Amino acid sequence: MLGFPGVLLWRAELSSVFLRGTIPPPVLLLPRWLVPVRPRGSFENHALLVLGGRIAALGPREELLARHPEVERIWLDTHVLLPGFVNSHTHAAMSLLRGLADDQPLMAWLQQHIWPAESRFVHPDFVRMGTRLAIAEMLAGGTTCFNDMYFFPSETAQVAAEMGMRVSVGHVVIDFPNTYTKSAEDALRKAQAHLAGLRGSPLVKQGMAPHAPYTVSDGALQETAALARQEGLFMHMHVHETSQEIAGALERDGCRPLQRLARLGLLDSRFLAVHMTHLDASDLAICAETGIRVAHCPESNLKLGSGISPVSSLHRQGQKIGIGTDGAASNNDLDMLGELRTAALLAKGRDQDPTALPAVDALEMATLGGAMACGWEAETGSLETGKAADCIAIDLDRPATSPVYDPVSQVVYCAGRDQVSHVWVAGRLRVSGGRALDWEDREIVVQAREWARRIAERDGEG
Ligand SMILES: [Zn+2]
Repeated sequence: MLGFPGVLLWRAELSSVFLRGTIPPPVLLLPRWLVPVRPRGSFENHALLVLGGRIAALGPREELLARHPEVERIWLDTHVLLPGFVNSHTHAAMSLLRGLADDQPLMAWLQQHIWPAESRFVHPDFVRMGTRLAIAEMLAGGTTCFNDMYFFPSETAQVAAEMGMRVSVGHVVIDFPNTYTKSAEDALRKAQAHLAGLRGSPLVKQGMAPHAPYTVSDGALQETAALARQEGLFMHMHVHETSQEIAGALERDGCRPLQRLARLGLLDSRFLAVHMTHLDASDLAICAETGIRVAHCPESNLKLGSGISPVSSLHRQGQKIGIGTDGAASNNDLDMLGELRTAALLAKGRDQDPTALPAVDALEMATLGGAMACGWEAETGSLETGKAADCIAIDLDRPATSPVYDPVSQVVYCAGRDQVSHVWVAGRLRVSGGRALDWEDREIVVQAREWARRIAERDGEG
């Protein structure tokens, strides 16, 4: 529910125009507080002009009102306007497995529940439905871009483009057979076959996603890196997720996973290492030398009992860090507001230092840091002139977020995703009054329930 009737009237009149047109209409956004992320801090009584889906101007409210009297206005008198969140690591389609067999040891959860369900059900229809469910959740919670790693990436890309969500899809490479690929060689062939076809949508980027050091051989990793370099793609990989992963690598390879990846020549500023919970001094040195990006997924790491990433050490040494939810099967939500709060609190607890990872840094990781992690920083992650208008408005006029001394603190430490009132992707309004404009959530929920009934019937068969 919005705070004042002007916005509701505007929405009723113009939402149909948005849906019909290919170019979103010009609009002047007039929030109480503007938090562009770059520059840092918050600005009162400023405005943002959207033209052709891009940020055309930012500046003092009165100045922009006087200069653009003809443009439609959206008054957001009690709201903070900020860039949409970038979920820097997830497996969107796994939302259909949310809550299947929680609170189990990691290998029992994987071997007895998740992997059997995936081997039975993961086909294009599953990926399309799971991705629809994930995007409906993410957009409503203020996420406007996500970095995905899952099978059938073309389906994920297509659904994201249809629903108006920005995405970077990862072509998964894994040695083991699954319902999508028979081997790493097959995965590389499929990635090459799909690369050209996915280049058409302005909302879609692609990356290579070797699954993890323990599931991809040296040869396949080098071929994946060669393809990524040839095509100018980011790489995206689970690295140092658990202490068992490191113990296994020491036994098998005689070195830690990061050392092996460095030796194979994979690590540079276009490599995104996901999790990074167990890092010693030599690992931190490799991170600093190579400039790899890091995706911090604190809630998944907590829920699976994996460990806690030394994120403030990485941050202090200048690493570019994004925040990710991981898949809904191991989180169990795709709530970036919740995730960035967990990141900020966990860093303080881990370091026993209340100054570790201040709110402004956590917010930057959840927006611009995520965009840098998956190659979208020229388009999104901050509210800067020339970038795509990927913005969200959060209504702070609620008991839970009152009073407001510092809007950034309110967003990070106490706002809930139900306070996200408006979401624009590339200047197009996708959520208004907290509701999706382009689909019925109810319909998606009913379809997800039907999938869950079929999955639950076979769960436990091994
Ligand atoms: Zn993951």
